[in-house]
Amino acid sequence: MSIMADAALDLRLREAAAAWLTERTQRQQELATKAELAQFIFEGRRVALLDPQRGIRKPAFLDAALSIRTRFTPPGQLPPYEDREGPDGLLRYKYRGDDPNHHENVALRRAYEHRLPLIWFVGIAPALYLPRYPVWLIADEPEELQFVVALDEAQRLIQPGNAADTERRRYVERLTKLRLHQPVFRARVLQAYGNTCTVCQLRHRSLLDAAHIIPDGQPAGDPVVPNGLALCKIHHAAFDQNIIGIRPDLRVEVRPDILKEVDGPMLRHGIQEMHGCHIALPRERSAHPHRRRLEARYEQFRAAA
Ligand SMILES: [Zn+2]
Repeated sequence: MSIMADAALDLRLREAAAAWLTERTQRQQELATKAELAQFIFEGRRVALLDPQRGIRKPAFLDAALSIRTRFTPPGQLPPYEDREGPDGLLRYKYRGDDPNHHENVALRRAYEHRLPLIWFVGIAPALYLPRYPVWLIADEPEELQFVVALDEAQRLIQPGNAADTERRRYVERLTKLRLHQPVFRARVLQAYGNTCTVCQLRHRSLLDAAHIIPDGQPAGDPVVPNGLALCKIHHAAFDQNIIGIRPDLRVEVRPDILKEVDGPMLRHGIQEMHGCHIALPRERSAHPHRRRLEARYEQFRAAA
């Protein structure tokens, strides 16, 4: 079956899969388990959206790949794509093995040649994925055994392979941060903290953020779970503005002038009563906030007080 003959079927499947993932996200289920992704139904037949055994998923009735996958990385490590930017600032996705003609690489190449939208499943925990879609392969680099990935329409317009000037590169990297790094960091941190604000234990996922302990862009400010804290919107803003601090002994400290303020129930219950409370920690030890980062951040809080 050639893809040209079945281009319509191929596109219907991609559209249906994207619509299904979007509908889940609207129900606050932006993460999907391996089992859920195996249950997707398209026009009466079950079509797994992810191949848990391989990086690349190509349903038998298509000629081109439908999805790619990046395995989950332990909390203290950056996902493997983090250092895979080319001179143009665009991300690379590595071939399966070192044979450009391996059938999985051929399936990816067809997706590239036909400009087909792909789903990228990024591992957040074992068997749990954050889908990013649509993404496109916009160049093939067989010497480096990789494809160039565009994460959105704007990145599709970048000429791959050329060294970009600083301004353009910064633009491309900002898009990558927005479309991939930030959502993945948020998902990994919230997952580690069981979708709970570490200060007040609020469990409403859509009101939770992943805060950086050491801000993004500073040395040691990388988007790894031990540099993160799951915080509700109020506590995230209060933390960033040094209204509350987290001591290295893992207790909340409210800035002295704020402790003396008189205001309504949000200030009283939401902030002042948190003073001295122990923060809630992830079950997994390797996901705990990194002590030296907390110390450095707490110094800043004290300086602001
Ligand atoms: Zn909170």
